[in-house]
Amino acid sequence: MDEQQRRMPKSLYGLKPNEILGALGLEKSYQGKQVYKWLVRAVDGFDEMTDLPKYLREELSALMPALGSTRIIDEQVDETGATKLALELHDGAVIECVLLTDREDRKTACLSSQVGCAMGCTFCRTGTMGLVRNLLAHEIIEQFVHLRRIAPDTTHIVFMGMGEPLANFSEVMQAIRYLHDPEGFDIGLRKITISTCGLIPGILKLAEMNIPVKLAVSLVTADNYQRTGIMPVNRAYPLDDLKSALLHYQHAIGKRFTLEYVMLRNENTSILSAQKLANFIRGMDVIVNLIPWNPAAELRWETPSAKEIAVFTKELDLLGVPYTRRYSRGRGINGACGQLAVPRNADDGDYR
Ligand code: SF4
Repeated sequence: MDEQQRRMPKSLYGLKPNEILGALGLEKSYQGKQVYKWLVRAVDGFDEMTDLPKYLREELSALMPALGSTRIIDEQVDETGATKLALELHDGAVIECVLLTDREDRKTACLSSQVGCAMGCTFCRTGTMGLVRNLLAHEIIEQFVHLRRIAPDTTHIVFMGMGEPLANFSEVMQAIRYLHDPEGFDIGLRKITISTCGLIPGILKLAEMNIPVKLAVSLVTADNYQRTGIMPVNRAYPLDDLKSALLHYQHAIGKRFTLEYVMLRNENTSILSAQKLANFIRGMDVIVNLIPWNPAAELRWETPSAKEIAVFTKELDLLGVPYTRRYSRGRGINGACGQLAVPRNADDGDYR
C-alpha cells in the first residue's frame, strides 16, 4: 500500500460533503456533494459515480476499492422475507443487522450499536457474548446502506440489534444525525427507534437534547426484585428510578413511548404481573409491546403458551393497559428480538 492509499479514510459514510472533499483531495468544491449524493444512493464504488470524470473515478477506485469498511460475509432470508446480514468489520469482529418487512409492507432496518453487549439480559443471546467494543458511527451507517441495497424502500430504523445504543451514545447520535440529513437519507426522527434496557443517564440525555426519536424501554417485568434477576441493569437503575426518569423524559419530549415486555413462560405473565405492570405505567402515556420470548437453546427461558398469553392479555384488558402484540418476524433466522449473537471474530465462525 503506498502513502496515498494509506491516507484514504476507512469509510466515506458519516462524512459531510466538505469532509469528503478534504478526505479525497478533490479539486472542485462541488465534487464533495456529488460523491455524497452517490453514497446516499448506496452505490457500490466510484465507478458507478457517473457524473465524476472517468479519470477521477479510475484514480479513486484504485486508491479506495471499497467505499466503506464493512463487508457482508453471510446473508440469510426466512419465509417472512426477513433478511439477516453478518458483516465483518475492519478488525475482524462480526456484527449482524436485519431487514424486516411488516404486514403493511413497511421496511425497517434493525441495526446493531455494539459488538456484543455488556448488559447481560438473561433472555437475550447477545447478552451471552459480553461487550467486545462500541461501533463507530460509520459502522452503524454502513449496516443501513447494506440493507438499503437489498431494499431501497427501507424507511424505518430501529436500534434493536446487538448492543445497548445508549451505552454508545455519541456514535449512535452521530449516525442518526447523518441518516436524518434531509439532503441525504432523510430518515425522519420519528421513524427511528432507540431501544434501551433502561440506562437512565442515556434517557435523561435524550430528554436534555430534546431529540424526538422514538424510545422503547425493555421492561420485561414491573416487579423490582424479579427484574434484577432477569436484567442485571436493574441493580444500578431500579424500577422506581427508571419510572422517575421516564416521567421526566415524557415531560421534556411530550411523546408516547413504548415499553417492551418480553413474555417468559411461568415468570412474568401472571395476574399479579399484569397488576404490577398496570401500576407501573400509571401517570405515563405508554404502549406496551408484548413479545413472546424468541427461543434460544442456550438460554434458560421458555416461550409462554397461547393459553398463558391469553390469560395475561385478558387481565391487561381488564386493567386498561394499552398494548400491542409483536409478531416475531425473523425468528427462523435468529434475527428476531434478542436472538442476535455471533462468534467474536469472523475466523471463529462458520461464515466463510
Ligand atoms: S437485550 Fe439489548 S441490552 Fe440486553 S443484553 Fe440484549 S442487546 Fe444488550
